[in-house]
Amino acid sequence: MGLIQALRGTRDILPAEIGYWQWVESNARGILSRAAYQEIRTPIFEQTDLFERGIGEATDVVGKEMYTFKDRGERSLTLRPEGTAGAVRAYIEHGFAAQGGVQRLWYCGPMFRYERPQAGRQRQFHQIGVEVLGSPSPRADAEVIAIATDVLQTLGLKDLSLNLNSIGNPDDRQRYREALVAYLTPYKGDLDIDSQDRLTRNPLRILDSKDGRTQAILQNAPSILEHLNPNSKQRFDQVQELLTQLGIRFEINPRLVRGLDYYTHTVFEIQSTDLGAQATVCAGGRYDGLVSELGGPETPAVGWAIGLERLIILLQQQQAVVGSKTDFYLVSKGEAAESQALVLAQALRQKGFTVELDLSSSAFGKQFKRADRSGAVACLILGDTEAETQTVQLKWLGTGEQESIAQSDLLTKPDELRQQIVDHTLTPNT
Ligand code: ATP
Ligand code: MG
Repeated sequence: MGLIQALRGTRDILPAEIGYWQWVESNARGILSRAAYQEIRTPIFEQTDLFERGIGEATDVVGKEMYTFKDRGERSLTLRPEGTAGAVRAYIEHGFAAQGGVQRLWYCGPMFRYERPQAGRQRQFHQIGVEVLGSPSPRADAEVIAIATDVLQTLGLKDLSLNLNSIGNPDDRQRYREALVAYLTPYKGDLDIDSQDRLTRNPLRILDSKDGRTQAILQNAPSILEHLNPNSKQRFDQVQELLTQLGIRFEINPRLVRGLDYYTHTVFEIQSTDLGAQATVCAGGRYDGLVSELGGPETPAVGWAIGLERLIILLQQQQAVVGSKTDFYLVSKGEAAESQALVLAQALRQKGFTVELDLSSSAFGKQFKRADRSGAVACLILGDTEAETQTVQLKWLGTGEQESIAQSDLLTKPDELRQQIVDHTLTPNT
């Protein structure tokens, strides 16, 4: 019988990699909570209808990528392909919309899309996302962009670029759609197959095509920015001005459109040149049409989602050092020493230190090797001599310095000990 393996497009995140995930998540959580965003956790599966209405049937996500199935009660369910539709459903269902005011929400979790797996593209992947509901202000657009930038920059990521565009309101888009179709129709036979299909179903998405010939034809296509009405244009100018005041650099990219139908006005992507074909780490924009589309009151909204797999690929490439998680690796040998070590490990943990206890009773040499590999900041050594005198050897693994210290002293000054650990720890990106 063959061994069962993880499904294509899914991955185990193993302990060797988990430090990146925890670091990214806790860093984001800190930034979001300081900006008064609140976490929301919605179900992994929803009624298929939610995504068909909320994302749009003409999009790739709904048309080709959803994991949709019938449950045992013959209901059509879908594993969520993105987080916004569920967050907005919850927002409406629990009466947040009726309360009025501004709601700032964030979420983090797995998403599912049936795609061709490759580097940075999986069938189960993870996103962190934010949604600001209830504010039409360009300041909300600028705020969410600033927060996305912070989330990425505080991780030490370099070579990121922010692409910005406005796709106006639905009327602007309708006029632009007509102009684009009028321009492209004479070239129809020269477009790639997908784009030919999109010409009638979702022409704006043609701007997204990766096909060289289609891109060449698009060189002289009309720009959406020429089709914005004065209000939309003023709004876009305000967003740019606010970003400039925030010191955030951006490039205007009139070709940038999002695949999802509910976007209005601001759209943006943050890309890295280090990600190859899967260059986009963060994508978002304003979606003033979604809440009412899903049966809630007219509610302006803006948000983004960061793809965590791509983010972590970048961190690994840029060799960001994830701070060590283990403070002490505790080695011991001999009956008395081994039982004292267990007690000491527990006492240190209760004081808030992270301690890995070697349980092997093997020769000290072997235990020391494991201590070196563990990533701990320091090694604690307990042998017969130490057990007799109730002491312990404290060895800083970075420098090799070693001292003998009473076990009780280790526990009575936890603040000093914590400071010593910090002094001996590499911080991220140094
Ligand atoms: P792409 O053009 O790369 O398919 P998208 O427009 O479908 O991206 P969004 O729906 O805007 O992506 O999702 C936001 C972010 O989530 C993307 O920028 C990316 O970082 C991440 N993402 C999307 N799909 C996947 C996937 N299949 N695997 C890994 N990450 C993904
Ligand atoms: Mg996609």
